[in-house]
Amino acid sequence: MSSTDISAEEVDRLYERLNKEAEEGGYHLNPDVEFAKDLIRGILTNEKRYGYWGCPCRLACGRKEEDLDIICPCDYRDTDLSEHGMCYCALYVSEAVEKGEKELTGSIPERRRPAKERKKAKSEHPRKSVSSLPLPVWRCKVCGYLCAREEPPEVCPVCKAKKERFERFM
Ligand code: SF4
Repeated sequence: MSSTDISAEEVDRLYERLNKEAEEGGYHLNPDVEFAKDLIRGILTNEKRYGYWGCPCRLACGRKEEDLDIICPCDYRDTDLSEHGMCYCALYVSEAVEKGEKELTGSIPERRRPAKERKKAKSEHPRKSVSSLPLPVWRCKVCGYLCAREEPPEVCPVCKAKKERFERFM
C-alpha cells in the first residue's frame, strides 16, 4: 500500500461528514453516491500528498497559501452552483439537481484564473476601499450574517433563513 492509498472506511467516514454538513448548511452532495465518493477519495489523496483538501479535479501546486482558493469547498463553489447547478467537479449540486428537477448539462467552465493572473491581482490590490470591493456584501436580516459574493446564499449558514431574507449591505 503506498502512502497515498486511501481505505474505503476513510472515504465512507468523510462522505458521511460532508453529507451531514452539506445538508445542515443548505448544500447537497451529488446524489450519485459512488461518484461523490470517488471525488472524496481524491480530496483525501490530496490531503495525504499536500496536507490540505485540494480540489480533486484541479491540479494543486503543493503550496497551501497559493491554493487557498481551491481548498474544498473552493471559492468558486457557490457561484457555480447558482449558475450551473453544480460545482466544477460536481461534488456539490443544487437542490433542483438533487431532487431531479434539473438535469446537469456537460462540464462547466473553469472560473479560476491562471496562476500568473492570480499572482498579479494579489500584488496589485493588497487592500481595497469599500467602493472598490470586488463583490457586493449581503446581510442576513434574521441573524446579521455577512458575506461577500455575487448573490446571497440559498440558505444562511448560521440561522438557515432562506435567500429572500438577505439584503444588500454594501
Ligand atoms: S469544485 Fe467542488 S469538489 Fe472541487 S473544490 Fe470546489 S467544491 Fe470542492
